[in-house]
Amino acid sequence: MSRLVAQPQHIVVIGNGMVGFKFCEKLVAKAQPGTFQITVFGEEPRPAYDRVHLSAYFSGTTAEELTMAPVEWYAQNNINLHLGELVTSVDATTQTITTHKGESISYDKLILATGSSAFVPPINGVEKEGVFVYRTIEDLDAMLEYAPKARTAAVIGGGLLGLEAAKAAVDMGLTTHVIEFASRLMPRQLDEAGSEMLKRKLESLGISIYLNKSTTAILGEPGVEKMLFADGSELNVDMIIVSAGIKPRDELAIKAGLAVGPRGGIMVNDNLQTSDANIYAIGESALHGGMIYGLVAPGYDMADTVVTNLLGGEKTFKGFDMSTKLKLIGVDVASFGDAFASPATSRSIVFEDKAKGIYKRINISEDGKYLVGGILVGDAGNYNMLLQTVQNKIILPQDPEDLILGSRGGASESAGAGVMSLPDEALICSCENVSKGDICSSVTDGTCTDVAGIKKCTKAGTGCGGCVPMVNDLLNATLKQMGKEVKKVLCEHFDYSRQELLDLVKVNNIRSYDELLHSHGRGDGCEVCKPAVASIMASTWNELILKQATIQDTNDRYLANIQKGGTYSVVPRIAGGEITPEKLIVIGQVAAKYGLYTKITGGQRIDMFGARVDQLPDIWEELINAGFESGHAYGKSLRTVKSCVGSTWCRYGLHDSVGFAIQVEERYRGLRSPHKLKGGVSGCVRECAEAQSKDFGIIATEKGWNLYICGNGGAKPQHAQLFATDLDTETCIKYLDRFLMFYIKTAEPLNRTATWLNKMEGGMEYLRQVIVEDSLGICADLDREMQFMVDTYACEWKEVVNNPELRQRFQHFINTPEPDPSIRFKPERGQKVPVV
Ligand SMILES: Cc1cc2nc3c(=O)[nH]c(=O)nc-3n(C[C@H](O)[C@H](O)[C@H](O)COP(=O)(O)OP(=O)(O)OC[C@H]3O[C@@H](n4cnc5c(N)ncnc54)[C@H](O)[C@@H]3O)c2cc1C
Ligand code: SF4
Ligand code: SF4
Repeated sequence: MSRLVAQPQHIVVIGNGMVGFKFCEKLVAKAQPGTFQITVFGEEPRPAYDRVHLSAYFSGTTAEELTMAPVEWYAQNNINLHLGELVTSVDATTQTITTHKGESISYDKLILATGSSAFVPPINGVEKEGVFVYRTIEDLDAMLEYAPKARTAAVIGGGLLGLEAAKAAVDMGLTTHVIEFASRLMPRQLDEAGSEMLKRKLESLGISIYLNKSTTAILGEPGVEKMLFADGSELNVDMIIVSAGIKPRDELAIKAGLAVGPRGGIMVNDNLQTSDANIYAIGESALHGGMIYGLVAPGYDMADTVVTNLLGGEKTFKGFDMSTKLKLIGVDVASFGDAFASPATSRSIVFEDKAKGIYKRINISEDGKYLVGGILVGDAGNYNMLLQTVQNKIILPQDPEDLILGSRGGASESAGAGVMSLPDEALICSCENVSKGDICSSVTDGTCTDVAGIKKCTKAGTGCGGCVPMVNDLLNATLKQMGKEVKKVLCEHFDYSRQELLDLVKVNNIRSYDELLHSHGRGDGCEVCKPAVASIMASTWNELILKQATIQDTNDRYLANIQKGGTYSVVPRIAGGEITPEKLIVIGQVAAKYGLYTKITGGQRIDMFGARVDQLPDIWEELINAGFESGHAYGKSLRTVKSCVGSTWCRYGLHDSVGFAIQVEERYRGLRSPHKLKGGVSGCVRECAEAQSKDFGIIATEKGWNLYICGNGGAKPQHAQLFATDLDTETCIKYLDRFLMFYIKTAEPLNRTATWLNKMEGGMEYLRQVIVEDSLGICADLDREMQFMVDTYACEWKEVVNNPELRQRFQHFINTPEPDPSIRFKPERGQKVPVV
């Protein structure tokens, strides 16, 4: 007797992007083996990769590392993968598709996951050499190849992707302009005030922003040279990245006679079926309820909906929240829920601090009970919690302004009070549909003990990655509830604190970020751990920070401070503020030769502004030949030790404050630390060097020196505190050595000494016990380590000047010796200043 065996259904997926891949992953995970036969066509030459983190490619993440799953994965799951093969037509009547290779195959169900392409406006000259879009790995390769010939880039489009492209242009060493047609940046996410704050922040990073500007033509032969705008103005550029929006890839659907929206996009119903019931569309090519979702999470939910329905379940796609957080390093921007809620149905609370560049707006329902949405610029630390408050309709506290200002001692501890106040069903990871309950139970049942484990077993945080900080908070809060010790880790890539990493680097003689990541971390790293490790390496091995190739701050990359307009400033060390007339003349000559603006700084030295990257090594060479060295004004390191004239000239002076300041500055020059360090030495209590406002201050007394520590100026000034009195010179240096080394080894990244002390249990008294009484028994180590740093000091500028390979990096971005035409100056008080 013969038995009828059910044939597997043939599913054909067109498009192997993030959503097409997710569809396959979910289908093979949920379906019984043999139920489906899957064939996938992808036009790109490689399997699906993480497009959301495409920009990481610029900082060294490889194409392989971005890959969602290797080709073997498809084979192991019986998926027939065709890469580099474009599907050219779909015949819905015969249920067949044809590819550009002439191959034709039939399908039972067809999934269109064709995504979108970058929208390129029809501007005259847009086809010229030097104009790029920002969508695929091949686009990035093309940009990286072209960038060395360019110095100036313009990004057309000031939206989410445009700003990401602008950051990439800055990272490629280009002077960067952003051209936005609308009257504000990120017009879909920000209001006028939020955009204005973001504009200022970006300008402070050296990016020029032009609003209300419409590009009419791109000129140049053969490559881009100039842009013309509708208002008659023009801009000289030699590279353009177009990021003016997305255009759904609906060409196949149109050819096949499927319904598409008037402005593009394949029309789908709540089951994601197109106008042909056997053809589905998901991801960025689908038009649902009049919306194209340009984010990955809705695409993943669409994939899940289709898989559920193919397996006989019932699920509909009901639209999706468009809350987003900008991934741009250095600027926090987020918008969530209904960011522009109308005043007719809601009221807004706005907090603005122009000095700190913070703008926060929350929109509250008319009855004051619920949060409906908001905008965060400059500080988006609360983003995840605010988003949860909207999504879970959590009743607001009596003073909802606490949500953005922080509680001021009141009783409101409910909404937004902490992750554990969320209901179990709260969706934490919307990309992978993981709830708070799923995450917490993976911890309570003992399966997971860290973020990596949670990511692996629940998949939370593996999509766009935006929820990872909240996953981390949930992990810590759950462990705490379980009575377990919560470990303070640097970030999700390292399960160690800064102090522990520092010890590991030392003990294992680890010399690079990659080595540390491979031996003790995971993933690709982020903007928290990369600079922190660069600082650890530099403060441990005293090696040139430039050797940490891909991970330093922009300032460290060029050993100079980036200034408005994209030029750099040069600050040679002038220890203690003492300088000979001959050296003063050299500074004058160098500044005149390179046309640099000069100014005396607050730290008693001379800053020369307006240098181009390619000029830096030449300028340094001339300064070094005259006996100068780097002043480390760009680094998280010792800056200056300011001094008064002291007993040498001043009739009140008790000791030689200048001599001591020079001795101290030369001892600690080049010392990398969690934040910048400043010192001061005054010759008597009149305190002309303002030593008590520094990280360490020394003031002469009748019997020796008083030592003050942990003061700082800046946005939150704090006086230094008296640490020890009437010290002789040797003891004063000994305590300083220990204090600085202890700070370097134990402070969190970007904590100045004052913040470090404020957080320290036991405060100054504890510090005194550690440093003076050696209560931890570590003083011998601290002494030895500091002496190593002092003995191995080398001037970073000199290393670049004498090393042709390193020097080449500064030439890399230059195609002509002529000055960059986009950097414009105007005269002011006899010198030049940038036009911005
Ligand atoms: C730089 C950048 C940053 C981003 N940042 C974020 C972010 O922070 N958060 C977020 O949520 N989203 C972000 N996105 C958007 C996110 O990447 C997309 O929403 C997501 O990739 C869409 O996936 P998809 O599969 O629908 O489309 P795609 O990823 O575009 O994939 C579609 C694939 O189909 C192929 N294809 C098209 N037509 C055919 C055909 N006829 N035959 C064969 N193959 C075909 C295409 O070549 C492509 O490989 C970002 C995008 C970019 C470019
Ligand atoms: S601090 Fe004292 S020694 Fe120094 S300049 Fe002022 S008065 Fe003179
Ligand atoms: S105080 Fe410092 S950071 Fe602020 S404007 Fe002056 S130089 Fe710049």
